[in-house]
Amino acid sequence: MEHHSIAIDGPSGAGKSTLAKQLAERLGYLYVDTGAIYRTVALKAQRLGVDLNREEQVTALLSEIKVRMDYESDGLQHMYLDGEDVTQAIRVHAVSQWTSLVAALPPVRAFLLEYQRQLAREHSVVMDGRDIGTVVLPQADVKIFLTASAEIRARRRLLELEQRGQQADYETILHDVKQRDLQDSSRAIAPLRQAEDAVLLDTSELDLEGSLHAMEKIVKEKLGHEN
Ligand code: C5P
Repeated sequence: MEHHSIAIDGPSGAGKSTLAKQLAERLGYLYVDTGAIYRTVALKAQRLGVDLNREEQVTALLSEIKVRMDYESDGLQHMYLDGEDVTQAIRVHAVSQWTSLVAALPPVRAFLLEYQRQLAREHSVVMDGRDIGTVVLPQADVKIFLTASAEIRARRRLLELEQRGQQADYETILHDVKQRDLQDSSRAIAPLRQAEDAVLLDTSELDLEGSLHAMEKIVKEKLGHEN
């Protein structure tokens, strides 16, 4: 059976995971949150106290780590690190910042590249990340670059944290959003950038339903009536 792939890239907080997940549900494709995979590797590095400047320490970690992704009855993509469910643990603030540093390391990217491609060979996927359209799946059927202004992304993040009952402050979040943008787009390897053949979708002025509708329209135009 021939599989289709939809690559969704963009900065943190553009709504990628929520939108990609819903799009996948509507299409009946597998949703792959690649950020969660990087976060899982970063969590292990953090727990072990790996010095990111020492390549041999990073390589040693990669040689023993066991990362697994699974879908549970709650409909969520659960991440397992060496058998432990770390779905919640990878979402804490410190891990987000640390992941951005770990994800800049060439051995880490090389290690996860094949893992991600394998998933796309075996399933029709909606895959979200930073370099899916440019590096992981350059032949993807549809590529969407999802973005929104840093201020809007920080506001959305603030709302999300408040809804979860967590204390947060807008200025700190905005600062973090900008810092992660800078780290992700200025790194030497697989930086965050729009693929030449990706469709740009700015969701600053759109709500969730409007964004999803715009994405479905892009997919329909590219895939025609195949789905
Ligand atoms: O998407 P999310 O915010 O969960 O990603 C966490 C971090 O993982 C990003 O800030 C980025 O540094 C890294 N990442 C990446 N390439 C991907 C997905 C995530 O470098 N494909």
